Amino acid sequence: MNTNSSIKEKLELIRNKISEAEKKAGRSEGSVKLMAVSKFHPSQAIEEAFTAGQLLFGENRVQEASEKFPPLISQHPEIELHMIGQLQSNKVKKAVEFASCIQSVDRLELLKEIEKQCAKIERKIKILFEVHTGEESKAGYETEGSLRESIEECAKGSFPHIIPCGFMTMAPFTEDEKLIRKSFSSLRELSEKLRTDYCELKLTELSMGMSGDFITAIEEGSTLVRVGTAIFGERDYSK
Ligand SMILES: *Cc1c(COP(=O)(O)O)cnc(C)c1O
Repeated sequence: MNTNSSIKEKLELIRNKISEAEKKAGRSEGSVKLMAVSKFHPSQAIEEAFTAGQLLFGENRVQEASEKFPPLISQHPEIELHMIGQLQSNKVKKAVEFASCIQSVDRLELLKEIEKQCAKIERKIKILFEVHTGEESKAGYETEGSLRESIEECAKGSFPHIIPCGFMTMAPFTEDEKLIRKSFSSLRELSEKLRTDYCELKLTELSMGMSGDFITAIEEGSTLVRVGTAIFGERDYSK
């Protein structure tokens, strides 16, 4: 991809690739949402993406997101921010003030803290259950048992301020497409099972796929792809 092309051009290119992949996989048009992952990129880059029609964004770190997003959201309330990075319990209070979804829920304790903080400010928040499917990533529920325990608690009505919407995963960092595909298909299969077992919850979202593997993810049933580098360019971690 030409690194000199603008954010607008890159967004268009990715939207086209998503449409193409939807068609090829026999999925309906618009069934895959595009999230722009803006971590390590400045507010100007986010505004540029917004001007090009992008409304859904993702950030990893609460501190960074809390500096960039509240001013943007107050100006443009249609902007939606999801937290996608591992979340410490002591960061939840801040995160629920501006995020509309926490995609990286990986333990029951975190659900309890999200409920507590959302109840305080009388706000509801969406969540996804992050599932560990790839060897190299450390994030996410490790066992189906622990995941079920959390979903069960939601189904019982223990968390009135939490809206469970589905699942998220990160494929292993590898060039081996077979392993990547296996990671995505295993989450799809698990999600189909859990969706049936807990049909009172609407666990329809499948957040999978990043810059390097979103086409594969769409073929395997992704409903939301999280794309950073292919939109904003390489991240500068020295900043
Ligand atoms: C950084 C990040 C992304 C985006 O990765 P790119 O390879 O830059 O597209 C997606 N999901 C999560 C959880 C991330 O941390």
